[in-house]
Amino acid sequence: MIIVMSRDATGTQIQNVTQWIESVGLGAKIARAQDRTIIGVVGEGKALLPLSEMAKQRFSQVEDVVQLNCPYPLASKDSRSSRTIIRTGDLEIGSEELVVMAGPCSVESEAQLMEAAYIVKKGGAQVLRGGAFKPRTSPYSFQGLGERGLKLLRKAADSVGLQVVTEVMSAEDVPLVEEYADILQIGTRNAQNFPLLKRVGRSARPVLLKRGMMSTVDEFLMAAEYILSEGNSQVILCERGIRTFETATRSTLDLSAVPVLRELTHLPIVVDPSHAAGLWKYVVPLARAAVAAGADGLLVEVHPEPEKALCDGPQSLRPETFYTLMEEIRSVKAAISRKRSSMP
Ligand code: PEP
Ligand code: MN
Repeated sequence: MIIVMSRDATGTQIQNVTQWIESVGLGAKIARAQDRTIIGVVGEGKALLPLSEMAKQRFSQVEDVVQLNCPYPLASKDSRSSRTIIRTGDLEIGSEELVVMAGPCSVESEAQLMEAAYIVKKGGAQVLRGGAFKPRTSPYSFQGLGERGLKLLRKAADSVGLQVVTEVMSAEDVPLVEEYADILQIGTRNAQNFPLLKRVGRSARPVLLKRGMMSTVDEFLMAAEYILSEGNSQVILCERGIRTFETATRSTLDLSAVPVLRELTHLPIVVDPSHAAGLWKYVVPLARAAVAAGADGLLVEVHPEPEKALCDGPQSLRPETFYTLMEEIRSVKAAISRKRSSMP
């Protein structure tokens, strides 16, 4: 159940409602939606039923009480009249402009990252990506440079005028990563790490949430709901492929998730064709398809010398291929922008 407070409700009035909810043994979660405060009532069972009428009678600032039949009310399109646009620096994610986040899988050295940042900027992308904390499947694989990697990311991005997105793997690292990154990334392996989702939900930074490789679209949106319900309304969804029986690619890029998500949620949608494909050759056609399907942006791995990469070299684009990708997706974007009115 969700209690919608009137626009002019004061902090004390909101607190009175939450205290009352807690006094009857339920939990209350405060969030902002559009220009008003909403209170999520947490709990199940009979206690919820009479609450709805009582809330309206007791508190004149309660504008509406909505019974939920959707498990992700804040992520749902029904909670907003327009699509969410996330602003970081002078960049808008979710508006008409196609946003490209590109860079190496991991930060390896200053020289590698400076070169990568130059390539990414030259191609026309807006955000530099790179992992400083790497969620490697094997404990013996390169685990990232940690804080030194974060410092290098900030320096390289600032030197060419890019924003930074990088993964945060644990709740305790959030303050450190927030210091250097503009956007916090949650990786596929942490997509249902609920304490971490709650923690980034209390951050002031936008969050790029990858879809769990085993998550359904509903589970993906409920993961986003964890972040939103803690008060952070800046969530970017990232489709990065799911596990299927197919082994020709590393994961199966679920492009149908793009129109499905556009139907279900107001949140911006980014597609990562690199981790889905696992091989650079497939990245450009998948990127074109993602833009054609209606993605708001792309996350792409680019490395100055993929054969020397410490992580994900086979799927990383060489500079020239990245420039081709950028040109091609611009043409696709221009073509679909003219037709947009007929798409979801
Ligand atoms: C990444 O983007 O560096 C990454 C590890 O991706 P994923 O979590 O999708 O595997
Ligand atoms: Mn990678």
